[in-house]
Amino acid sequence: MAMEIPDAVAAPQPPAIEANPTHMPAEKALDAELVADLHDAFGMMYAGSEWDSDDEDAAPKITDGFDLPALLSELAALVSLPQIPTKRRLFPGRAREPFVFPSTAPLPSLPPVNAYLPFSPLPLLARLRTFGAAGLSPVPPEIGPLACALHGWISAGTDALACSRTCGATWGVSGLADLRHAVRDGVVRRLAATLSSRHNAGCAWRITSSPPELFSELRRILHPLTAASLGSLARALAQQTLAGPIAPQWTSPSSNAEIDHLATALRRHLPALPPDPESENRTGPRSPEPKETLAAALALFGWFPYDPTFPTDHVLAHGTPTDIVSCRICCRRVGLWSFHTRTLDLGAAHISWCPLRADGWWRESVLVAPRGEALLQPKALSEMLVVSEDGQPRKKWRRR
Ligand SMILES: [Zn+2]
Ligand SMILES: [Zn+2]
Repeated sequence: MAMEIPDAVAAPQPPAIEANPTHMPAEKALDAELVADLHDAFGMMYAGSEWDSDDEDAAPKITDGFDLPALLSELAALVSLPQIPTKRRLFPGRAREPFVFPSTAPLPSLPPVNAYLPFSPLPLLARLRTFGAAGLSPVPPEIGPLACALHGWISAGTDALACSRTCGATWGVSGLADLRHAVRDGVVRRLAATLSSRHNAGCAWRITSSPPELFSELRRILHPLTAASLGSLARALAQQTLAGPIAPQWTSPSSNAEIDHLATALRRHLPALPPDPESENRTGPRSPEPKETLAAALALFGWFPYDPTFPTDHVLAHGTPTDIVSCRICCRRVGLWSFHTRTLDLGAAHISWCPLRADGWWRESVLVAPRGEALLQPKALSEMLVVSEDGQPRKKWRRR
């Protein structure tokens, strides 16, 4: 709504336009003051807006020095809190740990089991290890140790589970085996669906559990499938564990061809055993010997020489002979001497929750694939890679 301002009173300041204020009657002068105050008030509220631009000729700006931004900044200065000197918070730099732990490197110490680090693999291992060798009574994987550990549960005794953050929640899986099949399936489904909601209110595990892929990540960092890591482990096994005349009987979830490819590949990477160029030129690469194959298979499935008098979780440069092997992830130990009459399954010998017990993970490694198959064939490469389109100038480095 436009405000009617008499021309005569709206201009108290020069350039005064029509009226001379000194000749103004007293009440008119009062009105002029009032109007001037109103101008000030509106000017402060609508500084820079149409209020000022209205009747610009008749009512020159009288709000100079009273614009809203200035008013606001004054107000802000009045109510602003005293400046607290900001102390620079220096966070201690995280100790740089290797991204993976090859067989020659010791494992890092595990964080406490109650650490809420749902996206870190080592705390997951700390929770898994509470299940020990026994784990839980045979239960479906949906509510097995791995599923429970991913949801923040740790073992609290036989078939009992407790929150790793000690939110107070506990539950158990005992008696499941006694139920009838149909009932049991229903109970398992319900337990699996409530792995998060079983935590008490306020528990972080109730909100965010560990992602399932953390399990594979744990295996990849503690058991990298690199030629250097597996090669060092295989050599240590051949020297410390398989030096005797009798080798154990063994089998593994991987195929014989995969183990042979691995043994051949590792031979190429072992600096102490360089390939004999003469024999290779004559007859092609010789096929791996049985002990070489066994050493490669033991290494692939994460078995380390284990000396009870000087236990370590990594390969030593000069380890003493031993016929015990152990997994450094699940800590299962196996005496090879007992497998001269029975067969050692290199996969199934791990504890049920061990990531090396899972299926098919070794196929991530090119070392178990036939030589050359893992790499792109030149033909396939030329189909995938177009370096130069037709019509472009030919260059030496262009394929076509
Ligand atoms: Zn909890
Ligand atoms: Zn294991």
